[in-house]
Amino acid sequence: MIAAEQAHSSAAPVAIETGKLYVGMDIGGTKTAAVVIDAAGNLGADVLLPTAQGNDGVLRTAEEAMLALAKQTGCAVSDFSAAGLGIPGQVDSVRGVVRYAYNLGVESLELAALLRERTGVEVAIENDVTAAAVGAAHLMQLSGSVAYINLGTGLSAGIVVEGKPWRGSQGLAGEVGHLAVDPRGRLCPCGQRGCLETVASGSALKAYWPAGGEHPGWVLAAAVANGDADAKLAFELLVEGAASTVRAMGVTIAPEAVVIGGGLRKIGTPLIEGIREQLRAWEAESPFLSGFTLSQRLQVLPEGMPAATVGAALSPRV
Ligand SMILES: [Zn+2]
Repeated sequence: MIAAEQAHSSAAPVAIETGKLYVGMDIGGTKTAAVVIDAAGNLGADVLLPTAQGNDGVLRTAEEAMLALAKQTGCAVSDFSAAGLGIPGQVDSVRGVVRYAYNLGVESLELAALLRERTGVEVAIENDVTAAAVGAAHLMQLSGSVAYINLGTGLSAGIVVEGKPWRGSQGLAGEVGHLAVDPRGRLCPCGQRGCLETVASGSALKAYWPAGGEHPGWVLAAAVANGDADAKLAFELLVEGAASTVRAMGVTIAPEAVVIGGGLRKIGTPLIEGIREQLRAWEAESPFLSGFTLSQRLQVLPEGMPAATVGAALSPRV
């Protein structure tokens, strides 16, 4: 188990046990983050690289990240026992194939086998949000069932049961962002109307509040504090949508803990407390809903906690 204070300071590598070393990588649309952990979960080297696009670009980026980690660790790439990669898209963890990772320019890629060919290291792949869910449960020391909700540009969730990911058929579990809740709502890129992603995500926030620019989540709290009425309405709609998402996950799987992660959590305390207040209001109206105690189970992924990379590093073993 990685100590919380250590997990917060990824810039300060500690002495790691030689022997079994695992690579954990989070391949994002613009950047790829990677770490090394030992068998005890101690965090060693870490790197951050720009992600190159397309099948060859993604493979090259992953290989370069492993080379950089080996250099920092003072070992050869072949000394790594295994590598776990979190990647967006539809991920078949059994066959090691990722499909429809459009923000990486990837239609279909046999990522695990091809990276193993290049590096000689065993490779496991996982959906990026599922990997972050595994990492969050591990680092936050949450047992039982955990619903991890990623409020980013899009909206999706990862489910962990007793430390293990619940992937579902074809790795599709957790696509709560495309639970359609409003037949008269906005059209979603997925082809449905009124999906939760259209009311609780960075793209929803942009639609609510066009004046917020390219990254409205970064400036929303300040605009609300300054009395901007449009920002305040956008914030309220976002909070309501996010609380609806927590409720949907909550009544479906009755998790021991619900964790909010993703880029929008940078809005900070107002967002998480707003979601909690909305849940409390609904719970006050419904004895049925209050039985799930969701307002008490809600937590936020601490800033700087490397859930995505650590969860990916654990994935070859879960
Ligand atoms: Zn949708």
